[in-house]
Amino acid sequence: MRMRRYLAILPFLFVVGLSPAARAALRVVTSIPDFGAIAGEIGGGHVEVTALVKPTQDPHFLDAKPSLELALNRADLLLVAGMELEAGWLPALVAGARNAAIQRGGKGYLDCSTLIPPMEVMAVDRAKGDIHPGGNPHYWIDPRNGLRLAQGITKKLGEIDPDHGADYAAGYARFAARLKDRMAKWQLRLAPQRGTRVVAYHRSWIYFLDWAGFVAVGELEPKPGIPPKASHVAELITAVRGQNVKYLVQEAFYPTQLSQIFADKTGAKLKVLPTMVGAAGTHTYFDVIERLVEELTS
Ligand SMILES: [Zn+2]
Repeated sequence: MRMRRYLAILPFLFVVGLSPAARAALRVVTSIPDFGAIAGEIGGGHVEVTALVKPTQDPHFLDAKPSLELALNRADLLLVAGMELEAGWLPALVAGARNAAIQRGGKGYLDCSTLIPPMEVMAVDRAKGDIHPGGNPHYWIDPRNGLRLAQGITKKLGEIDPDHGADYAAGYARFAARLKDRMAKWQLRLAPQRGTRVVAYHRSWIYFLDWAGFVAVGELEPKPGIPPKASHVAELITAVRGQNVKYLVQEAFYPTQLSQIFADKTGAKLKVLPTMVGAAGTHTYFDVIERLVEELTS
């Protein structure tokens, strides 16, 4: 009787005993899905990626659910956008996760804004309500920064998991070669459209527009994070009259009512476009940039 019970327990012990060795994948948690998509391209089967922000959510504002804390508790590496993008919700989650490795300054913490040349750091309006007080944090949809992110993430993966360093380096080489090739092709398509004037709902497009050679003319939001009022939009319509604004760009998580009025009054085309991997049927980082180039050159 005793013996039989012991034998019944054996397979369970075997599985439990085996699991730490079998779990080879590095647990990478990212705020926005784009960092995870890039880490996945580089790390392949060596990484297991979880993004806290859904591609359909405003990354500035997130409901900090306890399930997100659990993912952070188990994480080997945390990739954040920094520049205060996640200032409203991530610090409390990270504190609650009780995981020393992923605290700011920990070996499993990477602030991805340290990998790119930040824009609008000096031009900030620190007046109440501006949610870009540390510079503009929407840098990942510029593929030049995609390349820099890939390089920095590769270095970090190699530091945390040196056994697979050569694989990460190879993953980076493949990703970088493909991205450089695509960037050259995208630039050929963008070149005839250089100087295209664009208004945005939120000031989340400046890095992309800079790379594309487009001109950011204004935003519907009077300040980043302050919802547009009809009066401000009316002023903007007057201000841009005669400037040939071709597009009004915005993410799907913003309302379109005032945007549509702006488009109707100015002749600009309203384009609701993805800025994160997974939005609008995109699956990869390449898909997102391809969609932006396609929609803004057609
Ligand atoms: Zn923003």
